[in-house]
Amino acid sequence: MSRSLRREIRPSSIEVPGGRPARYPRAATPALRRWPIRLLPLVAVGGIVAVDLMLSRWSWPLVVDGVLDELGHLLTAALLLALLPPSVRGALWPWAMIGAVAIDIDHVPLYTFAPDFAVDGRPPTHSLLTVLILTGVAAALPAVRIPFAGLALGVCLHFVRDIATGPGVPLFWPFADAAVRVRYEAYLLVMAGAAAVATWKVVASTGAPAEPPAPGVEPGPAQRA
Ligand SMILES: [Zn+2]
Repeated sequence: MSRSLRREIRPSSIEVPGGRPARYPRAATPALRRWPIRLLPLVAVGGIVAVDLMLSRWSWPLVVDGVLDELGHLLTAALLLALLPPSVRGALWPWAMIGAVAIDIDHVPLYTFAPDFAVDGRPPTHSLLTVLILTGVAAALPAVRIPFAGLALGVCLHFVRDIATGPGVPLFWPFADAAVRVRYEAYLLVMAGAAAVATWKVVASTGAPAEPPAPGVEPGPAQRA
């Protein structure tokens, strides 16, 4: 039997507690797909840097400026979500991705009919109070627990970028009006670190599984340990 065929029919070692043993083989990620997947975190950081260079070097119409910034938010959220264990990320991630951009809807009144709808530069809804309300709804209503918990997580991920760009974020409104702001370099450092950890996780999860011992071959002392 060829090595590749033996690898394909090897049963998965992942079993669900209380469930029946897995019968289906865990297919290794094909080599051709492995490297593009492993490069995704690096591509995400490159995308963030490219977006921010475009935003800082040129003046864009408001809509284009907004689209570029939301792209930066999506890449930021995706990178940080990749750090969470799959069991935590699970059903939350689509809602978290929505929350990571939807919070900026609060800029519509600011740019249209309510130019004063801002606290130290950004709308007051860019505050931990929004996260608290979304978390409270998730805790109080089991039927919408996942969507609202995901939205709360997404808003937190949104703040990671906003806090280092523009005027900062009035995180503690209504208790404090001053926007919280950190250096852009700190945000970039966090993103680079997240990309490094995410790459390590992807490499670990897409690596080819070890070959099983050939039939009839006893494991050596080192293997028994
Ligand atoms: Zn924002």
